Amino acid sequence: MNPTQDQKGTGGQKMPGRPQQSNILSILVIGIVITFVFNLIIGNLTAGQKRQVEYGQFIQLVENGAVGQAQIDDQQIAFTLKDGTSEAVLREILRLGSGEPRSMTGQVYYTGLLEDPALTERLLKNSVAFYKPIIQPNPIRDFISSWIFPMLIFYGIYFFVMRRFSGMGGPGGMMNMGKSKAKFYDMEKNTGVSFDDVAGQDEAKESLVELVDFLHNPEKYKQIGARQPKGALLVGPPGTGKTLLAKAVAGEAKVPFLSLSGSEFVEMFVGLGASRVRDLFAEAGKHAPCIIFIDEIDAIGKSRDNQMGANDEREQTLNQLLSEMDGFDSSKGILILAATNRPEILDKALLRPGRFDRRVIVERPDLPGREAILAVHAKKIPLGADADLNEISRSTSGATGADLANMINEAALRAVRLGRSQVLQEDLMEAVETVVAGKEKKDRVLNPREKRMVAFHEIGHALVSVLQKHTQPVQKITIIPRTTGSLGYTMQAPEEEHYLMTRSELLAQICTLLGGRAAEELEFGEASTGASNDIERATKLARNMVTQYGMSEKFGMMGLESLSSQYLDGRSVFTASDASNAGVDQEISRIINECHAKAAELLRVNREKLASLAEYLYARESITGTQFMERLA
Ligand code: ADP
Ligand code: MG
Ligand code: ZN
Repeated sequence: MNPTQDQKGTGGQKMPGRPQQSNILSILVIGIVITFVFNLIIGNLTAGQKRQVEYGQFIQLVENGAVGQAQIDDQQIAFTLKDGTSEAVLREILRLGSGEPRSMTGQVYYTGLLEDPALTERLLKNSVAFYKPIIQPNPIRDFISSWIFPMLIFYGIYFFVMRRFSGMGGPGGMMNMGKSKAKFYDMEKNTGVSFDDVAGQDEAKESLVELVDFLHNPEKYKQIGARQPKGALLVGPPGTGKTLLAKAVAGEAKVPFLSLSGSEFVEMFVGLGASRVRDLFAEAGKHAPCIIFIDEIDAIGKSRDNQMGANDEREQTLNQLLSEMDGFDSSKGILILAATNRPEILDKALLRPGRFDRRVIVERPDLPGREAILAVHAKKIPLGADADLNEISRSTSGATGADLANMINEAALRAVRLGRSQVLQEDLMEAVETVVAGKEKKDRVLNPREKRMVAFHEIGHALVSVLQKHTQPVQKITIIPRTTGSLGYTMQAPEEEHYLMTRSELLAQICTLLGGRAAEELEFGEASTGASNDIERATKLARNMVTQYGMSEKFGMMGLESLSSQYLDGRSVFTASDASNAGVDQEISRIINECHAKAAELLRVNREKLASLAEYLYARESITGTQFMERLA
């Protein structure tokens, strides 16, 4: 059973943009508006109704005694005309038509200032009242134009550049590093998930129910002087419902759910992670009571003294997280949930009391658990009368909640594909196979010889299995190729859930795995590549028997390997000496060879049955366990 992908929660809403940024924007807008209005007023004061004339015309007007007052600036001369000047003269000098306004004297005229040494003399001679204005110092205007205005301009440029940079380098941008609080976590006001949506995790739920109560009635615990737990660590394989459980806690407590993944803390820039942790806790403080959920916490919580070389960024982030967890007051009602599938690599500091002091194990569901999970998800689809969820759960040993949810969905899809409005048992069974072994690959056509080989191989497995004690009943045998690359398989399901395996059962299982190859050899006199997966699994079982379960004569109960990632792939590290390692290989090969010999012997004795069943399977491509047993009897 392969764990399927982790389905990320949907419906999370992103936090709105940082308030400070909109402040900057409004300051800028107000600045621009003020400048605009200011310019408008200044402009209006000075503008008036002016009419430009040539310098020559101005001189002519002066000489004719028509100019009353003249104001001489740095660049221009503005002047008005005397009342009572002959209109005809004016019209002639100004070259005006008869349609022009009559009152030309009320108007201000201006002309450009030329280098004219005789000007003063001319004005005096014609008794023009002329003056040069003294510019009054205006402290407010000076201040605005020499300080505020440049500042606004620089601010504008700065703002523009910021915008540009923050477009680069992903969210946050390089200039904003550590500042962008938005977008690195999701927040759901109400997850809408309840404990009823999580099936088959009763122990985990039990430990979490108490936490819900903490969030509900912090006072109750305060009164009696009990310190509330700050956090709980959800530990288990992928797809078992850790994220779902965390959401259910938030849903049951009716508090907001702030979630993010540990890897989102650790980014390109040193210091960013730490500042994000700070921001996250600050944000959580505003929403309290609430739940912070850190998924994949191993991304930051990796033990600091591991050999893989120091990672400053991660350490800083982790340190920040530790100090935030110490710092906040749990009576405020902030609960930190974290999930991991590699608890063994977590830094011990994270796990000490006062931090993630509770550990909630979320295991793969057992038989009743699987049935309950199937039932939860089957509620969403119309089930046919013949649907038997118990049978499905029996054939899905090792499946996680996510696998089972996926199976229900696949079954519904198949029903739709076949034009049915109800999901029947055959849809469910087919979905199990689809999830376990991949989709049927109809376009892969085996040639008859290959097909016969596969048929013998599969019957070999099935026959070796039923001919031994301590094995699981055969449920289905098929030689229809699957998209995962398997050319056929034999499905077995236990009658009841097993938690322990005995030595005899392990050996029987290894024999069964090797039965496929043994059948090929017996019938065709040679081996094919079809047994590689069987060999791998058989070898692994044999290895575990020797190194972990203490089931070999040579080493006895000596532990030679220890599990390094129990909840992921079950990888283990060899802990004994090199000399022992060679001995282990000998032991493994002895077990494998003995089992292979036993399987070959069983098949040799039952050769006719092997042949007749293989031909039967060859003709039908897919037979049920019942059909198999009937033919065998
Ligand atoms: P994890 O976080 O442990 O990897 P998730 O919580 O993301 O797993 O589970 C993925 C999906 O699988 C869930 O959204 C849910 O549909 C289904 N699922 C997993 N476990 C359960 C369960 N115990 N009961 C019901 N559904 C489950
Ligand atoms: Mg998850
Ligand atoms: Zn096989």
